[in-house]
Amino acid sequence: MRVKSEGKIYLLSISRMRLTIISTPIGSLGSGRGGGVELTLNSLVSGLLEQNHFINVIAPINSNLSESCRSANLFTVEGAPQKSWQHQNYYSKTKISKDSIVYVMLEKALSLMNNCDAIINLSYDLLPICKTLEVKFPIVHLISMGDESQEISNIISRVYSNFPYNFAFHSRSQASDYPFIKEPIILGNGFELSQYTYQEKKDGPLAWVGRVAPEKGLEDAVYVASKIGEKLNVWGIIEDKVYASKIEDFYPSGQICWKGYLQTKILQKELGQCRALINTPKWNEAYGNVIVEAMACGVPVIAYKKGGPGEIVQHGETGFLVEPDDKENLLLFLKQINKINRKKCREWVENNASSNIFADKVVSWLKKVIKEYESLDER
Ligand code: UDP
Repeated sequence: MRVKSEGKIYLLSISRMRLTIISTPIGSLGSGRGGGVELTLNSLVSGLLEQNHFINVIAPINSNLSESCRSANLFTVEGAPQKSWQHQNYYSKTKISKDSIVYVMLEKALSLMNNCDAIINLSYDLLPICKTLEVKFPIVHLISMGDESQEISNIISRVYSNFPYNFAFHSRSQASDYPFIKEPIILGNGFELSQYTYQEKKDGPLAWVGRVAPEKGLEDAVYVASKIGEKLNVWGIIEDKVYASKIEDFYPSGQICWKGYLQTKILQKELGQCRALINTPKWNEAYGNVIVEAMACGVPVIAYKKGGPGEIVQHGETGFLVEPDDKENLLLFLKQINKINRKKCREWVENNASSNIFADKVVSWLKKVIKEYESLDER
């Protein structure tokens, strides 16, 4: 909590911070349209609540938090929906209207500022980043994607030159999309381990999990599954129906088993029975939540070494990495997947990506930023 005294702001207790988290504007929490940010938010809130921090969450209408986040204050707001940045032209310019969802979410977050120590922005969007320059209050940004918009990269660059500590990233590869960031703060991501059950199952089917959209490269995973004469189970929201139909039409009927979008509780149960997860991103994947979720259930991963997956999967230990777009090596390693000890996969998650580890990293980051703002006040 902060008090003002003679113009200066002091933090009463950094061990119990009051934080406001802005969710993604792309979809309501629980809908799947917000992609990995939905899970990131829930595990972050859960980890921070466990450390006794006080949490507000601002999210689009119809959002729900996971059970472990129930003691957070959830404010849902209504506004005009937005299109995801990765599905727009890289050079397109935005007009932000006052009824846009991101505008309404930011206004709500700012209205809570007096009883708050920092705002954590999880939306990959212009407005919250611009606002950092205008208000004398820590607004920090956990950037959820690589460079998908020239306009957003430009504003990150502008704000970064004044507030270098206010930005953090999920992986080094993601941060490298922003070459002006000299020493990126890398936080990884966090997962509520109690939600994932380890399963010892070596003869199950093949899995692919994610938003069905071109940047996720589903076609390469279907190719290798078909080559070994197996079906591919696909979980996730079909974001691009034309893209999905094109892949489906290319193969004999039944090659893809569409499993739909499931809540974590059921997803992890089904996923845990699989022999391997195939992960084939075509873009610079910021992190790759689904990889870690599979590993938490004991499922080894064969992935393209592109973005986060290249930093998460330990080649030969928790799965295999192959060069991007190299379908023949993907196939080769898929045939060797049973060499991987499933226990090692779960262990990696426990040691590197629990929600507690993630919350610790976020708290150290916030402390650094808050200290910076306090020193600005003293100047
Ligand atoms: N997901 C889910 N149910 C499903 C399929 C996917 O909850 O049936 C979630 C999954 O838990 C993960 C997210 O969708 O958190 C996808 O995130 P990822 O980081 O892999 O990719 P993004 O969509 O952010 O690009």
